[in-house]
Amino acid sequence: MEQTEKKVKLAVNGGISFGAKLNAKQLVTIAEYMNDGDELELTTFQQLYIEVLESEVEWVKEKFAEVGLACYPVGSFVKSLRTCNFCKGAEEEGMPVAIELNKRIAGKQVPFTLRPAYTGCPVGCGEPLVNDIGVMKVKDGYDLYIGGKAKGKDARTGTLLMEQLTPEQLYEVVDKIITIYIEHGKRREQFSKFVTRFGLENIRESVI
Ligand code: SF4
Repeated sequence: MEQTEKKVKLAVNGGISFGAKLNAKQLVTIAEYMNDGDELELTTFQQLYIEVLESEVEWVKEKFAEVGLACYPVGSFVKSLRTCNFCKGAEEEGMPVAIELNKRIAGKQVPFTLRPAYTGCPVGCGEPLVNDIGVMKVKDGYDLYIGGKAKGKDARTGTLLMEQLTPEQLYEVVDKIITIYIEHGKRREQFSKFVTRFGLENIRESVI
């Protein structure tokens, strides 16, 4: 019987920039790695899902990186940071901070898929309050919300955990929160449920 090689799902996007966009070269590159009948899945989290042969994963990642495509694992990992369009400018809206935060946390293995979101001003186009970890730039500081949930009958907005953080404080606190979740979350326990069970105040005390 013919043995078919296992395929691995990759989440792909064009990295953090002015909106979730792909250029023609990136689209052509993605299409090159698809066969007739293959499908590309669009997610609500600014990612495309593509399946590639297990033996070709690293090679495909390299080829994608050459045209500026970022690849992330699919499953119980921290997703790439969902962002707004930075309509008022990269520096003013903290794009370098969003890029650095994404670099530090995306792809970490966690008890259940964790969705972080970032938005460059209080208009909130990146919807940070309905995601697991939400960052909102307000004036010169970064406000941090946790425990939001967009799906289900128990959908809710996140709670403001800390406000007016500096970039370094933000990276450190988000990193500590994810570590607490990794160490104390039950297998497949959603982050919003973990926040309720573990306790917002316990998390606050642990990160200060
Ligand atoms: S959140 Fe603010 S900076 Fe970002 S796209 Fe919306 S209005 Fe522009």
